Amino acid sequence: MKNECSIIRDLLPLYAENMVSDDTAAFVAEHLKSCEACRKEYEQIKKPKPIQKGNDAAPLQKLSHKLKLKRIQTIALTAVFVIALLVSAFAVLGAPIYQPYSEGIVTIEELGDKGLTLTFDKNVTDFHYDIHDDPDDSSICICDIEAWTTLWDKWFSQGKENLSATVVSEGKPMYLFYIPNDTSENVCLAKYDPSAENQIEIDGETKGITTLPRLVLGYYLILATGVLGIMVIVWLLTRKKQTVRLWVERIGLYPVAYIVSHCIVSGINWTTYSISRDFSLIIFLSILLYSGLLLAHNIWYLKKEIKTVNRL
Ligand SMILES: [Zn+2]
Repeated sequence: MKNECSIIRDLLPLYAENMVSDDTAAFVAEHLKSCEACRKEYEQIKKPKPIQKGNDAAPLQKLSHKLKLKRIQTIALTAVFVIALLVSAFAVLGAPIYQPYSEGIVTIEELGDKGLTLTFDKNVTDFHYDIHDDPDDSSICICDIEAWTTLWDKWFSQGKENLSATVVSEGKPMYLFYIPNDTSENVCLAKYDPSAENQIEIDGETKGITTLPRLVLGYYLILATGVLGIMVIVWLLTRKKQTVRLWVERIGLYPVAYIVSHCIVSGINWTTYSISRDFSLIIFLSILLYSGLLLAHNIWYLKKEIKTVNRL
């Protein structure tokens, strides 16, 4: 019997794969019926082998994992860019188009001792006013008025009622200025004196004061361009250090996102009259674009890796 067992054991791998003749198969089956030791050996062979890590199966598993990752990242990327597109549209459509001064753009009426009413003409769809002391004479206060419309309002909000507002002074004489925000001089609309008999004196003259746009965004733009320039130089100098390059690319994408966001929000302008709006929108949009660029960068690298694995 011992002799037969060793022959059977030699045949078992072929038998398990159905690679023996019918006669041999019958012979092996017959033996297995009667010999428990060989039966056990046979069961061992038939058992499915667990996937061995670090062997042939590992690259395949990794590849399928990477393909999955790539698919998820591509979906996320599409979502980020759709949102970025919507935010950009919002930024462009909602950008203030300041209205130049024209006679009748603001009508001023007195409200007894309570203050004044400002009524804007139809071209104005939004406004802002700010009352502060005259820096040269604290017994006088100044009310700066800005008025604008947006592309959105021009296209979609026609035929609305004229905007109006009530301005209350603190009992001091007040000068009302219209701020055209186009580097031309501010226009003094009227002087209001609550204690005088004739409370409003219509003026309509300029007093040589110009409200200048803010330059800060221009400085940030220069800074972003500078950082990008440095990143490009470092990138060129680290041709052989792949990991360093990877990080330089990841960091360098932010100034790219910032510059693009600046151009979308403020156009190709160095200056702005609406700094807080522009700056918060640029930061928001740039973070959105940055995550999109990082994702795209990742997908690009994954694609390269998948190609390399496929070639192996
Ligand atoms: Zn046996």
